[in-house]
Amino acid sequence: MEKEALFTSVATRERGVTLKSPREIESMRQAGKVVAQTIAALVEAIRPGMKTADLDDIAVQEIQRLGAKPSFKGYMGFPRTICVSVNDEIVHGIPGDKVILDGDLVSLDVGAVVEGFHGDSAVTVGVGNVSPAVTELIDVTREALERGIAAATHGARLGDIGWAVQSFVEERGYSVVREYVGHGIGRALHEEPQVPNFGAPGSGALLRKGMVIAIEPMVNIGGWQTRALDDNWTVVTADGSLSAHFENTLLITEGDAEVLTRV
Ligand code: MG
Ligand code: MG
Repeated sequence: MEKEALFTSVATRERGVTLKSPREIESMRQAGKVVAQTIAALVEAIRPGMKTADLDDIAVQEIQRLGAKPSFKGYMGFPRTICVSVNDEIVHGIPGDKVILDGDLVSLDVGAVVEGFHGDSAVTVGVGNVSPAVTELIDVTREALERGIAAATHGARLGDIGWAVQSFVEERGYSVVREYVGHGIGRALHEEPQVPNFGAPGSGALLRKGMVIAIEPMVNIGGWQTRALDDNWTVVTADGSLSAHFENTLLITEGDAEVLTRV
């Protein structure tokens, strides 16, 4: 059963769990690098007074300059290159005329394709003079991702990642979003398995070396419940509380995972 599952996973099924070959991993390293560099450019550029569309323009140029293609544009009809989610927006904010204000909490989610393989990463930044609550939410969410990455090793289970994230976040008095989760990634932006930010240790599918997954905790100051706006993309917290989002794409190995979306 295990063997059969492994065998089918190696097959080139677009939507299944796939183990990546060394050559594919090399492409994914390059895609990850493009994503990391694009995020660095955005973080460097972001200022109060900019429109969220200005950030999208920067990402368009940067991804093109680096010889890659954006993952999100056109994905299920998504109209822009990156997602920019402000304050109570959790994920999937569409760049547009919204002006970023001093003190805002801004999540930037970027995907890029190189040689047919995707990289996917997100960061949240406080813009200008931010409140201590914003700074703490960012720190907790960033650390939650690190806890998840530390749990992601060959032989561990998906629930170990979820538990590492959830237990840390809830101890700090925050909540993790349930309706949106991390994912396998490769030739498709979203592959099996789903990678929840919650769960019980020792539960769920086994992680194997050669798998590439994106871990992406979304952490709210208030409750975990979400709702989608009328644009059918933007996801906000149901209670209007602030939300932060960090994400990395990583390769499972027998030791520490190799984070592909770091410069
Ligand atoms: Mg992402
Ligand atoms: Mg993702």
